[in-house]
Amino acid sequence: MEYSLLTMCYLIASITFILGLKMLSNPASARKGNQIAAIGMAIAIFGTIFLYEDESIKLGNYLWIFGGIAIGTIIGAFAAKKVKMTDMPQMVSLFNGMGGACAALISIVEYNHDHFYFEVLSNTSFMIVLAGLIIGSVSFTGSMIAWAKLDGRLQDYSFKGQHIVNILLLFAAIGLSAFVLLAHPEHSSLYFYFILVLSAIYGILFVMPIGGADMPVVISLLNSFTGVAAACGGFLYDNKAMMTGGILVGAAGTLLTILMCKAMNRSLTNVLIGSFGGNAASGGVAGGAQGQYKEISLSDSAVLMTYSSKVVIVPGYGLAVAQAQHACHELEKLLTEKGVQVTYAIHPVAGRMPGHMNVLLAEADVSYEKLKEMEEINDEFPSVDAVLVLGANDVVNPAAKTDPTSPIYGMPILDVELAKHVIVNKRSMKPGYAGIENDLFFRPKTSMLFGDSKKVIQDLIAEIKNL
Ligand code: NDP
Repeated sequence: MEYSLLTMCYLIASITFILGLKMLSNPASARKGNQIAAIGMAIAIFGTIFLYEDESIKLGNYLWIFGGIAIGTIIGAFAAKKVKMTDMPQMVSLFNGMGGACAALISIVEYNHDHFYFEVLSNTSFMIVLAGLIIGSVSFTGSMIAWAKLDGRLQDYSFKGQHIVNILLLFAAIGLSAFVLLAHPEHSSLYFYFILVLSAIYGILFVMPIGGADMPVVISLLNSFTGVAAACGGFLYDNKAMMTGGILVGAAGTLLTILMCKAMNRSLTNVLIGSFGGNAASGGVAGGAQGQYKEISLSDSAVLMTYSSKVVIVPGYGLAVAQAQHACHELEKLLTEKGVQVTYAIHPVAGRMPGHMNVLLAEADVSYEKLKEMEEINDEFPSVDAVLVLGANDVVNPAAKTDPTSPIYGMPILDVELAKHVIVNKRSMKPGYAGIENDLFFRPKTSMLFGDSKKVIQDLIAEIKNL
């Protein structure tokens, strides 16, 4: 059978992708899953380079190919080694953007390669080239904006009528593509590059206005775009491994988007036209929480938690910043030894990337059974004696339920205020990612315990040991 060895390589690669993806769903096997999928990808790449038996499509240009692989490997390995855990979300956005850019570049190269032989480029291939161009460039520019926002380099930005402009841009890119595809006009290159520019601008404008609570949905949507764009490349080259990889990423990203939309109580249509309601930058500080807050001392916190029968820890982005996951696990073990029932309440968008808190706590060997999803734990809060909020803010903000002008309005939150006592640990009264005040901090049941999470937890452990 022709290409048999190569076909075997692609089959092995596809199996490793599926296995890898399956193993990524559990923190205990995730690292191994990633390695297995990477080996599969290496087999697919080297198979493609060396095993094509048809002379007419055998690859040459080894210097370019291996030069590119070497540069990419060095930069990727160096960046991955150097990146701080708290910067992982930015890194994921960057990598995702690079995937989109590659897909768009494939479309540009193949278009330039083939449009001189326009007659031989079938409508189907051309359609795939255009789809890869649009989806890849939206994913590239959108991910770059997401990266800049996650890195605090860009604020949310929107202007009046932006939804209309977004829709027009998207329709113009798709409409022009249909025109070029069906009418084969003269100067089609001009249209082709215009479609590229329109899509790139759409990517920017689509992500720019998106505020705090909605970024996770957009990030998973951009992931799925990159997968679909890569799958377009796979169809174009009839490369099975690329197709499987792209489809898996696209499908996983789409499922994650649906789950995030559900968790955030948002509709996908709104995401697609980038029409989420107000945001911190354009809407100002919503929530309007004012008044007095009260503080609690370390020793009182230690007493309260030690003599509780049920304590729930709510981890948030600040826990990742403080790198306090190991200390947190210590505290949990200590309280458990004292007979306290301790669990963690995991909000789906706590932190800065989907699953951030699960990854963080798994790193500290926190038992998976101790982690409770939002729906499950919300019913339990009334029977909880003390909640310890560690560096979380937006995910416990009651404005999401009570203030229709808030940019996080409609987002389900952890109902910590239903517990008997709430201790909130953060460094100051500054807002979280959405840039809004939090009324929870001023409520009668809440006490503030200021300080860096790691230091505070270590001091709490010392206090509890002394009791
Ligand atoms: P927030 O960003 O709302 O709040 C984090 C809080 O941690 C801040 O208020 C900060 O207050 C505190 N903090 C920071 N550093 C420390 C430290 N060293 N020690 C103690 N506290 C610290 O986090 P949440 O997890 O509650 O919410 C996540 C937000 O991020 C949501 O708005 C979500 O939509 C958004 N987002 C989530 C993504 C995801 O996929 N999960 C992706 C993109 C955005 P202070 O400075 O006073 O210490």
